[in-house]
Parts: sequence; structure tokens; C-alpha cells
Amino acid sequence: MNIYSFVSPIAETNTYCLIHNDECLMIDAVRSDELHTFLLENGIKKITVLLTHGHYDHVLGILDLRNEFELMVVSSEKGPELLGNTRKNLSAVANLIGSFRGSNNHIEPFTVEAQFFLKDREVFHWNGYELQVRYTPGHSPDSVCYFLGEKYLFAGDTIFQNEYPMLRFPGGDKDTYYNYTKPIIDSWDGNLLVYPGHGGAFKLSASIVRKELDE
Ligand SMILES: [Zn+2]
Repeated sequence: MNIYSFVSPIAETNTYCLIHNDECLMIDAVRSDELHTFLLENGIKKITVLLTHGHYDHVLGILDLRNEFELMVVSSEKGPELLGNTRKNLSAVANLIGSFRGSNNHIEPFTVEAQFFLKDREVFHWNGYELQVRYTPGHSPDSVCYFLGEKYLFAGDTIFQNEYPMLRFPGGDKDTYYNYTKPIIDSWDGNLLVYPGHGGAFKLSASIVRKELDE
């Protein structure tokens, strides 16, 4: 199995792809020329996007891809609350956030729609792969992680290696993260390979979120 990764110049956000014949399973959809070239070079016709949450940098690629490919967007049941709201998906303040990071990419406020919604613990089947969704709110109310089999975890902005997630965006909630989500993360196997929304992959046991417990 190959997990291909692409980093967007906007907020250095990751998209991860699996491919099977002319289909692509995408975890988040970033804006990236490299991703677009990869899809064309592999003859991809149909894309299924599983969203870790609705923040603009993780979904901006949907605007680029939806007219060119057969696209199905899948989110948690709480996804539409962010996807359909320019303030909650942060697209209304994307240029301000970008300017703090020294970026001059211009982004107009936008909304996107999902077509399919997952409940906590629901398993999504795609070409022989099984992805289980787990609700992990805190960074945003719609944040989820996806297990790919038992060894891999797509964690969005919920788990990073060296820093705690940002919990102060609109809809973010520190108490929810520490009281609800962190105990769930603490219960997971430390050998899981985590693919985060920003930065490279790491073993869950190496995350700062787990270190308090492990040490
Ligand atoms: Zn986010």
C-alpha cells in the first residue's frame, strides 16, 4: 500500500492519497499544483474525499477539483456546520491568517458541500480498504480521525508530534479536547503511525499529547 502525501503552499496543510485503478481516496483536499498533476498523471477520474474537519486550508482543493473530476465529499455529521459557514470554516479570515504566516495567497470566502456523512465509529469501505472514523472534537466541533486498518491514523489537526493542537479558533474547545478527546487518544496503541494535517508522520507514542501519560 502506498500513501502519497502532498503539502499545500497554503498553511502547509497535508493531503494524503490512496489510489486504485482510476480512483483516488483523498484525506482532506488541499490546494496544490503537485496534487493536481499527480491525479492527471495517474489517470484518476473519480475522487472520494474524507474530511478530517472543515477548516478552509483542508478543503480548498475541493473548489479546484470538483469541476474536473467526479468528486464525492465525505464528512462527519457535524461537517456541514463548518463547511457551509465562511466564519466557521475560517475562509473569511484566511487572508489574515495567511498574513501572520507571511503568505500573500489571496483566498475569497467560500463554502463547500459534503454528500455523505459519517457517524462516530462508522466504517467507510473503499476498494478493499476500511477506514473507521472517530470523533475527536476540540480543535473544531467537527474534527475526526480516521483509522486505516489498525496501523495508520489520519489525524487532521487533532494530534501533532511536537505541539498541542490550536484550540482557540471559533468552535474550538479546550475542555472538550482535554476531557473528551485526549482520553480517547490516550487509549490508542502507541505504535500507530500518525499522518497529521501539518508536518510529517510519526508514531503516536512520540506525540507531545501522549508524553504526559507515558512518562
Ligand atoms: Zn484546522
